[in-house]
Amino acid sequence: MRIALLLALFAFLAACRNVPIVPSASGASTTFTPKTGDEIVVCGERFHVGAPVVLWTQFPGYDGYHLVPDPKAKPDPKSGEAPPMVLAYEPGRSRKIGDGMLEVLVAPGSRDRASLAAVVDQFVLHYDVCGVSRTCHKVLRDRGLSVHFLLDVDGTIYQTMDLADTAWHATKSNPRSVGVEIANMGAYEKKDASVFAEWYARDAAGTYLHLPDRLKGGGVRTEGFVGRPARDGLVLGTIQKTRYHQYDYTPEQYASLAKLAAALCTALPRIQPDAPRDARGDVVSHVLSDAEWERFHGILGHYHVQANKQDPGPAFDWESFLRRVREELAAAAP
Ligand SMILES: [Zn+2]
Repeated sequence: MRIALLLALFAFLAACRNVPIVPSASGASTTFTPKTGDEIVVCGERFHVGAPVVLWTQFPGYDGYHLVPDPKAKPDPKSGEAPPMVLAYEPGRSRKIGDGMLEVLVAPGSRDRASLAAVVDQFVLHYDVCGVSRTCHKVLRDRGLSVHFLLDVDGTIYQTMDLADTAWHATKSNPRSVGVEIANMGAYEKKDASVFAEWYARDAAGTYLHLPDRLKGGGVRTEGFVGRPARDGLVLGTIQKTRYHQYDYTPEQYASLAKLAAALCTALPRIQPDAPRDARGDVVSHVLSDAEWERFHGILGHYHVQANKQDPGPAFDWESFLRRVREELAAAAP
């Protein structure tokens, strides 16, 4: 009898360690849980993605809720005072309604996914120009910015905050979107950009990702992982009427991204599994007009939101990606 009681106590304590992960209103961090699964968190509710997901509560702790030194603070060398600590995201979802007033659309810490699903209708794709998610997380924190997901070269998805909260990644799309920073060194007008020589090499099998030694493995979760662009060699394409070169994303990234996008389209169904298209049916290669942006509900690039952006770049294979998202959705349909 005593042993049964003891076992029950252990079971209870174990269950306590896995309480749903919702940040406190202050944004205080929670303790690490050791398990890495395939679930993302939407309004405290877990959704299976079918790809590796590491949450902000898990090692290595890419936690969007931590306060950051105010990037706008001007350091005063005389006083030696540390800059004030500030949030790098907005708790909940709200929109400006004029006269400096905010209308709260989703309360901070909300468990009401229906109210979030009424507000969030865009999934914005970025490349991180950091090459690996560990660097991206640090760069975002240094700049006082945030994003819901980081997608590393090995296909690991890191979720940094609940989707109920607003990440700062895509200006006017922030209140209505979920964002992902995909690890990739970005697009350049010159095909001999020095970054390509530093980050890519060739062997008998073709081009592979060669992380600079100074990164010491870059924090990539899969030990010994060697990434290869899904399509060998540089891809040339047009974004914002300018020609850019870029190496493609890895097959592991495309696979995880398609699964993540399908999960988002299911959890937040106003996100349609399609990108902005022109009259011919091609994915638009430039910024949307305000009216087009306003009425678009789906998956889009950062460059569709802002004219000064090129990401996810010309190498991003929209058609093959969107086909996979629709296949994932069809496979999951009852
Ligand atoms: Zn971006």
